[in-house]
Amino acid sequence: SEPVTAIHQLVERNAQQFGSSLALIDHDGREFTWQSFSDCVDEAEAALAKGGLTTGDRLMIVAENAASVAAFLFAASRLGAITVPVNARMSARELERITAHANPRIIMYTTGVSKDAAGHAAEQTTQELDEAFGRVELNVTGINDPEPTPQGTTPLAVLLYTTGTTGAPKGVMLTQKNLLFAGETSASYRGMTKDDVVYGALPLTHVFGLASMLIASASIGAAVQLEARFKPDRLLAALQDKVTILPAVPQMHALLMKLTEDMGLTRLSDTQLRYVSSGAAPLDPAWKRKAEAFYQLPLQNGYGMTESTAGICGTRNPIGSPDISVGPPLPGVEIDLDEAIGSENGVGEILTKGPHVMLGYFRNPDETAKALPSDGYLRTGDLGKIDEDGRLHVVGRAKELIIRSGFNVYPPEVEAALNDHPDVIQSAVIGRRTSDGNEDILAFVQCAVPAKLDIVGLEAFAAERLTAYKRPSRIVPTEQLPAASTGKILKHKLLEVFSNELG
Ligand code: ATP
Ligand code: MG
Repeated sequence: SEPVTAIHQLVERNAQQFGSSLALIDHDGREFTWQSFSDCVDEAEAALAKGGLTTGDRLMIVAENAASVAAFLFAASRLGAITVPVNARMSARELERITAHANPRIIMYTTGVSKDAAGHAAEQTTQELDEAFGRVELNVTGINDPEPTPQGTTPLAVLLYTTGTTGAPKGVMLTQKNLLFAGETSASYRGMTKDDVVYGALPLTHVFGLASMLIASASIGAAVQLEARFKPDRLLAALQDKVTILPAVPQMHALLMKLTEDMGLTRLSDTQLRYVSSGAAPLDPAWKRKAEAFYQLPLQNGYGMTESTAGICGTRNPIGSPDISVGPPLPGVEIDLDEAIGSENGVGEILTKGPHVMLGYFRNPDETAKALPSDGYLRTGDLGKIDEDGRLHVVGRAKELIIRSGFNVYPPEVEAALNDHPDVIQSAVIGRRTSDGNEDILAFVQCAVPAKLDIVGLEAFAAERLTAYKRPSRIVPTEQLPAASTGKILKHKLLEVFSNELG
């Protein structure tokens, strides 16, 4: 068969080779085989072509997870267009900002599955479609602003906005080659086969959901069981049913552990589960221990970012391993450190090179030049070290490094100490400049009943685990932390959200 050079060809190949095997389980339980899903892609393609979508155009998808998102993504690829998946849960203002930047010819809303998508669609003139892929609405904007394929590269496949943990989201241009490489690498690293069923709660609007979940599965012909929104009770039910592979962010594991603890369920039984991973944010050693005891499987840590089409490193550990690194680089991926950036022995800014590295930030040459100087290495903005076995240890983000009385404090280490406490669900630690030029450590702690948290007890608990300069100056209990659609905590919003509590 022909070599695959674009993501939609994966669907065509799977439909030809094993058309009757399972491709997708939609959020409502509807099942699609590779053949019936390929028919959905035909329908989506016809709708997009009718709306005038053509080579180099952008299709924005305002979504929560549904089969329609996948169908339109592959359909846009067939037309040579670029998909811009954005999460329906963002505010109207955030969505306006991204829409103005991405300038899409067509905007698709997953109105059948998402109240938020329906809310956004209600602001526009749309046309409703209800086909095998589910109910969606299309807004044909009439904008004609194609993006030519840059010289020497494969065409762009998606424009993916970063989480916005450290500031405003940036539009990352990923090519067909980026996605195909990342998908195949991730599938083979996990030993995925066409008989696997991958749990699909990671948003398709985020790189881990898109590349490591959907494209990885399509690259091998595995099925994805889509969830519109993450709910721990639905995950538990899925784990007791067909799911064999669970990719998640640490917050999802933490919420599942909380649920099962409340139920008095200490370990999973009657399950097909064979692979569990965590990525997109630091994996807390305490959560890892708890989760492994529950799943009775190793919890593999994966490190990556939107700019690297997700996968940079991943562990391959046995259960109970004390390894807290993110593992060695994936096959075909190079890593290095720029120690001029680290202010401590062996710590430097993590650099990575290979077919997973983005083309650049969309219409943002200044940020592109900073992230991709010219040596081919992507500057990740993360700090880390590489141990003697070649495994990478991510110690924190350069931007979030706290310097307290001349000492470096990495927020993930403080968070891990707090998260160890039985009353703490999760925590977020940031620095705040004081008037004398020093930095205070602020800890925001999510717990079930904030009013009842014994703060003095938690301070004493932290003091047993952290040297004096690493201890939080202030602990703020809360029922909820500001989070992105993946569950990742939006640290740059903390000061604003808790301005009353902080006084
Ligand atoms: P923005 O770039 O807009 O501030 P973001 O960096 O959070 O947001 P993503 O691309 O979703 O956007 O996240 C990538 C970042 O997440 C990495 O740069 C790293 O800081 C963090 N990260 C990802 N995986 C891990 C991991 N396994 N351990 C620790 N940190 C991780
Ligand atoms: Mg980032």
